[in-house]
This record gives sequence, C-alpha cells and structure tokens, in this order.
Amino acid sequence: MPDREHCLALDAADPLREFRDEFVLPEGIVYLVGNSLGALPRRTAERVRQAVEDEWGRELVGGWNHAGWYTQPLTLGDRLAPLIGAGPGQVVVGNTTSVAIHQAVSAALRLRPDRRVIVSDAANFPTDHYIVQGLARTLGGYEVRDLAEGRFDDAAVVLLSEVDYRTGARQDVPEVTARVHAAGALIVWDLCHSVGAMEVDVSGADFAVGCTYKYLNAGPGAPAFLYVNPRHLADAENALSGWNGHAEPFAFEPDYRPAEGIRRFAVGTPHVLSFAALDAALDIWERVPMARVRAKSMALTSLFLDLVGDRLEVASPREPERRGSQVSLRHPDGYPVMRALIERGVHGDFRAPDILRFGFAPLYTRYVDVHDAAATLAEVLDKELWRDERYARRLPVT
Ligand SMILES: *Cc1c(COP(=O)(O)O)cnc(C)c1O
Repeated sequence: MPDREHCLALDAADPLREFRDEFVLPEGIVYLVGNSLGALPRRTAERVRQAVEDEWGRELVGGWNHAGWYTQPLTLGDRLAPLIGAGPGQVVVGNTTSVAIHQAVSAALRLRPDRRVIVSDAANFPTDHYIVQGLARTLGGYEVRDLAEGRFDDAAVVLLSEVDYRTGARQDVPEVTARVHAAGALIVWDLCHSVGAMEVDVSGADFAVGCTYKYLNAGPGAPAFLYVNPRHLADAENALSGWNGHAEPFAFEPDYRPAEGIRRFAVGTPHVLSFAALDAALDIWERVPMARVRAKSMALTSLFLDLVGDRLEVASPREPERRGSQVSLRHPDGYPVMRALIERGVHGDFRAPDILRFGFAPLYTRYVDVHDAAATLAEVLDKELWRDERYARRLPVT
C-alpha cells in the first residue's frame, strides 16, 4: 500500500506539478470538488479587474467594440474548441448548460422531423432530463424514452453524458455515437464531467454541450458552451432565436434571419464579466498536455480506490479507462460521513441517496492529497466520528 512518503515522491515526479501554482488553494484543505466548482486560477482576479476597471470603467459602452466584448462568444468558443476535439467556428460560448441542451435538442428535432422520440438517460444530471421533458411538453406529440429501454431505432435524438455525474462511469463516445447514427438518430453529448478531465473528441457527434465552471475552472456561474458539427451548420435552427444570433443584429429588422455558421446559436447579450474569468482559465488550458491530464487522473482515482480498499462499496467502475476523474463510494449514512470529512478539511460532496463523491482535478490535486483524504475517511469510518449529531443537520448545498 503506497504510504505518504511514496505519494510525496509521486508528486515530485509529476509532470503536471507546476500547474498547481496556477491556483489559489487555501492552506490545510484537500479540495476534491473540482468536478463541481473548479478552483480559482491566480490570474483570474487580475483579468476580471481589467474587464471591470479598464474595459467597463474606461470604455463604457465602447467596450463592445474596443474590448472585443461583442465577438467573445465566438472567440472564446474557438479557444475552447481544441479541448473537445472541435475546430474553429464550431463552438459558441454563453448561457447555461441547461439552455444549451434546449438549443441542441430542439435543433436536432428539427433535423429529424419525421421522428417523435427523444431518448434521454433518467440517471443523467436532472437538468438534462428536465429540459427534455419540458421541451416534449411544449412541442406536444413527443415521447421521452429512458435510455435504459435501450431502443434508438425510431429516435430523433439521443441525449447522453460522456461521464455520469453520480457514478463517474464513462461512455465510449465513438461507439455510442456510431450506434445512434446507425439507428438514424442524432446525438447530443453532455461533456460537463469530461471536459478538462480527459481528452474529449466530439468531432463525430452532432451536437455537444458543457459547462466551464467544473474542471475548466472558469468560476461560479461561468458560461456554458455549445458545439454544432459543421455538417449541420447550414440547416440547424436555433429555437431561441434571439437578436445576437440574427444575421444583422444592428439592422433591427422586424423578422429573424439566422446568422451564417455557429453565430446563429448565440442568443442575447454576452456575459462579459463571466467571460473574463473564462478567458483567464483558458490561458492555462492552452498550455496543458491533455494526455498527461488523463494519465494522472487515472492514477489518482486508482490510488484512492487502492487506499480505500474494501471499507466502502464502490459505485464507480473499477477499470480506470471506464471512469471519469471521480470516485463515488456508497454509505447509507453518506451525508453525515461527508460532513465529518469536510470538518476535517477533506472536501468532497454528497449526492442522494447514498453517494460520497470525490473529484480529482489533475491540474491541482496531488498524490499526497489523495493519501490524506483516504486516511481521513478511514478515521471517520473506523472511529464512527460521523455519528456526532451535528453532522445530520442538512445544509442547503452539499
Ligand atoms: C453540472 C451539470 C449541468 C449544469 O447545468 P447548468 O445549466 O449549467 O446549471 C448540466 N448537466 C450535467 C451533466 C452536469 O453535470
């Protein structure tokens, strides 16, 4: 079993170790929630200050032209594109993942007008499934079928996550994409739990969406992204046909005419201040070797599983290739166990009914953090420290 010294040696030899210095990480905590809200990059505060004071403060409304605000949904999309295997002119940034799902699924439905079935995974992050349910209700005449039924043959569109938020199980994107296409359906991939944690390649998919505040570290409320395969760009329609997706927004015409290319998927006024934080986060990603990120991610999650041993039931796949960058463990009293861990400086989170989630963001998580988290978990369980009644009280966000 690797001891603490061994983990320190692994950190010293880690080819990604310099990236940890890019982040502000409070002393004395092990942060394993980068899959929910990524850590703050050091460069972000200055970049946001610039956007506020130098751009907004000095340029005022001129910032739309002089500070590049107006084109940021596309320029930032182009910078993000390599992280998902996409090219320039294929990704637009803005809104939330929920909104991007609505846009992608409605566009896919319009491209398959003869079909009336939307396949969605009831075990997916709820917003994905909720958005699809709402869309089916609004449109009328559509059936939402659970992925578990396993039938795509009459589906218009299939919406799936590459990595399951609860268990960390990873789908085989090329294999599933090929299966969906063979059935004549289109696929929308949700990349929230894979982008920034591994090499992602959606170039064979029809649409993809994801958020930038998890592994990408763009901050709370950071904008989402939407990818549209270039083969659909001429025909795909944006159901949220706002003025920023119009061919000539400043012509103020009475009728909507879609812009050429990915810009038609822009909706309204860009989130300039949030974009500044995304811009800073992408400065880091441009230097990151993703193959190393994936290798370290698999090493970290495997190490954690080794150290936890058979203390708890493991909800994540055992084979590292089939996992995202998280480990999920089950405990019937998972909530107080997680509260007890957090009080001892080990930050994971809890997902009902019984899942303890530990996310390992490879840019700033060290092997020694994995060691310390597993040791604290062992102590909390072995000494039953979680039974203290103060851990049973629920907080609004866990
Ligand atoms: C985090 C997450 C979201 C978040 O949706 P928002 O609209 O950005 O709040 C959506 N889907 C999945 C799979 C997620 O993990």
